[in-house]
Amino acid sequence: VYILAVETSCDETSAAVVRDGREILSNVVSSQVETHKRFGGVVPEVASRKHVESITWILEEALTQAGVQPQQLAAVAVTQGPGLVGSLLVGVVAAKAFACALDLPLIGVHHIAGHIYANELVHKLEYPFMALVVSGGHTELVHVESEGSFRIIGQTRDDAVGEAYDKVGRALKLPYPGGPHIDRLAHEATEAVTLPRAWLEPDSYDFSFSGLKSAVLAVLNQANMKGQPLAPEAVARGFQDSVIDVLVEKAIRAVRKFGAKQLLLAGGVAANKGLRTALETRCRHEGVPLLAPPLSLCTDNAAMIGAAAFLKYRRGQFAALDMKAEPQLKLEGWSV
Ligand code: ATP
Ligand code: MG
Ligand code: FE
Repeated sequence: VYILAVETSCDETSAAVVRDGREILSNVVSSQVETHKRFGGVVPEVASRKHVESITWILEEALTQAGVQPQQLAAVAVTQGPGLVGSLLVGVVAAKAFACALDLPLIGVHHIAGHIYANELVHKLEYPFMALVVSGGHTELVHVESEGSFRIIGQTRDDAVGEAYDKVGRALKLPYPGGPHIDRLAHEATEAVTLPRAWLEPDSYDFSFSGLKSAVLAVLNQANMKGQPLAPEAVARGFQDSVIDVLVEKAIRAVRKFGAKQLLLAGGVAANKGLRTALETRCRHEGVPLLAPPLSLCTDNAAMIGAAAFLKYRRGQFAALDMKAEPQLKLEGWSV
């Protein structure tokens, strides 16, 4: 079964052809990072205009690279939400037009379900599993009892972890997005600035990163006022250590408490080398199987949408052609 998948929820325009929800035949990703860099963040109006410019050739390129004829497709899948409404709309409209013209079923996919099921493109999943979702807009621990049944057991109360990375990146005058630069600086560091960890209540699986971000800004300001600026490497290292400590500890506790067979890492921040290494070490110690997608499948891409879409395809959960883009789409109850 060949599914053509489309992803335009933020600032990546992407189309992919995925076979049986597992095998990637093509995964074309066009990032708008260069366009948004000079604004220090994604500008929604600019993002949707860029999606409009790219979507047609990206769709054609995905089919060409896959060597698949439109007539061979079984369905067209698209990210329905969450995301920027103007960006989502471009993908949704393109997918509908394609499905309509070729008389194919349409499948609406939750973006975070896509990030989670990116793991299925490279690993064998075993239920129940715990997913640690860390991305630009989300920080969540998701208990997945059985296929497509999502329960959020903890989430951020303020900033998402990727958002915190990008804000600290801006404070350190690093190019947008700051995440990968902080990761690199943290590795080059020979010392670390001491920063707080937000554990919240002892039994809570929630996260909080805005206090940490404020603490970073405060130490930077103090050091500058004293005329003794801090090494960006030491700040990056202190920040990254604090983030990783909390993520790793809460993820492992959640795995234990819910009897999960595997821990899955998902989302753009899953590309973070420090986080991957820390989780690998801890999981090996604890005897917990850890699954993470390769770096190219961590950040936004359409292949992950094709993987998640296959769950719905098998159950015949198709969308009507009046399906709407849902900027606030909820993960729980997305697919039952
Ligand atoms: P969401 O998936 O929540 O809708 P998004 O799609 O904008 O948000 P992703 O593409 O999943 O986010 O991830 C982008 C985020 O990942 C950015 O905040 C970026 O800084 C961060 N990121 C990417 N690589 C790394 C890295 N190596 N270390 C830390 N953060 C990283
Ligand atoms: Mg992006
Ligand atoms: Fe994403």
